[in-house]
Amino acid sequence: MSAAGLLTTPATTPSDLGIEVDNISRDFGKFRALDSVSLSVQRGEIYGLLGPNGSGKSTLIRILCGLLAPSSGRASVDGIEVGKDNERIRSRIGYVSQKFSLYEDLTVEENLDFFARIYGLHGAQRAARKQWAIELTHISPYLDRFAGRLSGGWKQRLALAAALMHEPQVVFLDEPTAGIDPVARRELWNLLFEIAARGATLVVTTHYMDEAERCGTVGYLYLSRMLVQGKPRDLMALPDVTPEGMRRVEVQCERGAAALMAHTRKLPYVEDVTIFGNALHLLLQPGASDAELRRELEAASHAAVQIREVTPTLEDVFVRLTKIQAARAAGGAR
Ligand code: ADP
Ligand code: MG
Repeated sequence: MSAAGLLTTPATTPSDLGIEVDNISRDFGKFRALDSVSLSVQRGEIYGLLGPNGSGKSTLIRILCGLLAPSSGRASVDGIEVGKDNERIRSRIGYVSQKFSLYEDLTVEENLDFFARIYGLHGAQRAARKQWAIELTHISPYLDRFAGRLSGGWKQRLALAAALMHEPQVVFLDEPTAGIDPVARRELWNLLFEIAARGATLVVTTHYMDEAERCGTVGYLYLSRMLVQGKPRDLMALPDVTPEGMRRVEVQCERGAAALMAHTRKLPYVEDVTIFGNALHLLLQPGASDAELRRELEAASHAAVQIREVTPTLEDVFVRLTKIQAARAAGGAR
């Protein structure tokens, strides 16, 4: 029927995509660090790449920056095929690596000059871009300071300013907020939104779920494979995350969550337990009663317990899907 055709979303044309990854694998000797990974990122979008340490996040970013060749598969960045013209790719991308990569014994301004020169900027253009980066990141009060003496948050702003010097259309940030304080984290994210709003494509790796929830799309790498990807809201609504009839509740206990964790695990109608700060998040099997759960936990903790229904967080999503995947792998191996 023609009506069905009208309802389909318009096809994405390659030019809408800042990044396209098609079935990329990468082997290091016998170890497969990336296994058939595919993804695409629209221009102007922030893609959050998540996953445990060693799952392949940095390897994927290094491939997309043209620093490492894939063993198989193909990818394009800003419309350019990776591997065909990596020099051109490098002129279009900004890369903030996992490790602070600026010169600690140069001042902030000397670092900016250095990177402007590396990117081939001269004269008035160099001065204009430097000024732009300084204004965007508000780093002007620290121009004379040695980079090594900046706080973690300002180091990351400087790294970002340096990476943006040549107006890259695609920016990769590998754990840019690891180890910096919450205020600096928020400020860095505000900068990222600003860059995305100007049309750049961003890929950010992070271990912070609050950051993941701010991304347009997130992908979770697990044991070198893409376990799941999509918009945060859509992932939270996946049937596997909260199976039919099951409910998620948050349990607040005056005595703290850790004390109740072990006891909660033993209850037959509790499918899953995770600690969230001072609370527990429980996945309850169909038919479980909140009143009975409260009685049980109040008796165990000798303190008042509050229970309320909650929607899954992204952490719930990844914890749950990882467990299902591990159970399937164990079942398959038997
Ligand atoms: P992540 O960034 O998700 O923590 P990485 O991409 O850094 O993970 O690493 C994925 C896996 O590939 C790890 O087990 C790592 O030890 C391995 N690996 C990465 N680079 C190399 C390399 N150059 N040689 C051998 N193994 C590597
Ligand atoms: Mg890494």
